[in-house]
Amino acid sequence: LGTAPAVWLYCTQLAHSAGAAMTTDRDELKQLLVDANNVVAFTGAGISTESGIPDFRSPGGIWTKYQPIDFRDFMGSEEMRRESWRRKFATDETMRQATANAGHRALARLHEDGKLKALITQNIDGLHQASGVPDEAVIELHGNTTYATCLDCGERHEIAWAKQVFSDDETIPSCVVCDGIVKTATISFGQSMPEDEMLRAQDATLAADLFIVLGSSLVVYPAAGFPIMAKQNGAKLVIINREPTDQDSLADLVINAEIGATMGYVVGVN
Ligand code: NAD
Ligand code: ZN
Repeated sequence: LGTAPAVWLYCTQLAHSAGAAMTTDRDELKQLLVDANNVVAFTGAGISTESGIPDFRSPGGIWTKYQPIDFRDFMGSEEMRRESWRRKFATDETMRQATANAGHRALARLHEDGKLKALITQNIDGLHQASGVPDEAVIELHGNTTYATCLDCGERHEIAWAKQVFSDDETIPSCVVCDGIVKTATISFGQSMPEDEMLRAQDATLAADLFIVLGSSLVVYPAAGFPIMAKQNGAKLVIINREPTDQDSLADLVINAEIGATMGYVVGVN
């Protein structure tokens, strides 16, 4: 990652404290979109809750069930790897059956209209692509859970294959080429960030004149550094999230409401 400070290299989490709520206005967002030439969206788990995929930190979210497995623990313990695959297969069906919602569709429409130039996502569910945003416009900071890779040689492995290996007696899948450790193609806490995606996200952020956060608690870094970077670079910053975030005081507009209804209204899709 060249000269990037060390803080950019690892996925970490900061403590969350509630920020001050501000007045909301969908029409102000409409006007900001009209005025903007280079819109970048930054999405978190909150944009996919309306598709039936639980987020991390809402009541009933994934964190109320289990703490995430840190990358070091995954690497260091066979039992952690087994538990990680158990969780993957327990949630896989929900993830595979989920379809894009009005929030995803609104962003797809903005891209189609040429307004939205890039979509930076922390999500691993593939729903932005499913809603019609082309691969080259989606920057997945935390990877993708629809396939797995060997951490040693990089060989791609399909989830269906891993499931078959695991199903009888919870055998942990290992690489068919080099016998290395296989992991879903997602970035865990403590795992280094994907370099290409970080650079693409940085370029997109620095080109933005309007940066819209949708459904992120903005506590997972370095991802949550992008809205700050956009604002410092002169972009307008909008945050759409059910709850306040630590970055609300930085934003030009904060909308504490449901993403689907808000974006559906603003963009005119449902
Ligand atoms: P988070 O769970 O920390 O925060 C989600 C935020 O979205 C919350 O503040 C919540 O209030 C808000 N929210 C939820 N539903 C909403 C809705 N319908 N409308 C408006 N706001 C809504 O999620 P995060 O910031 O993305 O961080 C969690 C990490 O976990 C991410 O890095 C991501 O990699 C991963 N994750 C991904 C998925 C997914 O791919 N769908 C799901 C869970 C977790
Ligand atoms: Zn391998």
